Amino acid sequence: MSEFASGTLSARNIHLSFGSNHVLRGIDLHVPQGTTASVIGPSGSGKSTLLRVMNRLIEPDQGDILLDGRSVLKDNPDELRRRIGMVFQQFNLFPHKTVVENVSLALRKLRKLSKEEAQAEALEQLDLVGLKHKADSRPANLSGGQQQRVAIARALAMKPEVMFFDEATSALDPELVKGVLALMADLAKGGMTMVVVTHEMGFSRNVSDAVTFMDAGVVVESGPPEQLFTEPKTDRLKGFLSDVL
Ligand code: ADP
Ligand code: MG
Repeated sequence: MSEFASGTLSARNIHLSFGSNHVLRGIDLHVPQGTTASVIGPSGSGKSTLLRVMNRLIEPDQGDILLDGRSVLKDNPDELRRRIGMVFQQFNLFPHKTVVENVSLALRKLRKLSKEEAQAEALEQLDLVGLKHKADSRPANLSGGQQQRVAIARALAMKPEVMFFDEATSALDPELVKGVLALMADLAKGGMTMVVVTHEMGFSRNVSDAVTFMDAGVVVESGPPEQLFTEPKTDRLKGFLSDVL
């Protein structure tokens, strides 16, 4: 039994255009409860847009999004965003608030906890990411890796059923990447359902349960990491892997 209240997430035949730019061209993604899906592919292939559609920051032109087998497209989008935690490349912490305030803010606003309850829960989450001792610091006084761990703690504090990571380590100095990836790997092992857009092929290969390779708005190949990394079927994936590995 997982320690997380995780859900099964599916995107079905998602289409989205920005003006005449048909960015997502019929994407299918199925992420069973408690598994980690990594999404890889060249810049501009639509990975970030897919995450944004799946948590309804953007409405798809066509297709459906299901959580635990139920379409969420008619629900209040805020409700879905509470069920899906999101971590971005840029940590988006509030610079003038302390670390613990950054984590407790949404708990007060969205989960309507009292100040004391929110503070206690925020400290608990910070402890889980190894940063309780930084609770009263400002983000600027933390390393990039620590700031990203605070952003992860902030997302986890909402008790999401699914976590999205969009190139969460791309803005970090190389020596700080490992700590954040280790935390993400711990979450994956703990049974969190995750969708991880990443350039970290080591994470994709060794941690994720399934890999989806996107190019130009379509899923070109998907399957177990061993299959995609050792027996890529398409020239597009072969070319991508030879560029990044
Ligand atoms: P990736 O994350 O794989 O690098 P994106 O999803 O960011 O790719 O972008 C896919 C395509 O959609 C690109 O052509 C990009 O220019 C375009 N795009 C992304 N966001 C917007 C937007 N808000 N408005 C218009 N075009 C966008
Ligand atoms: Mg992107």
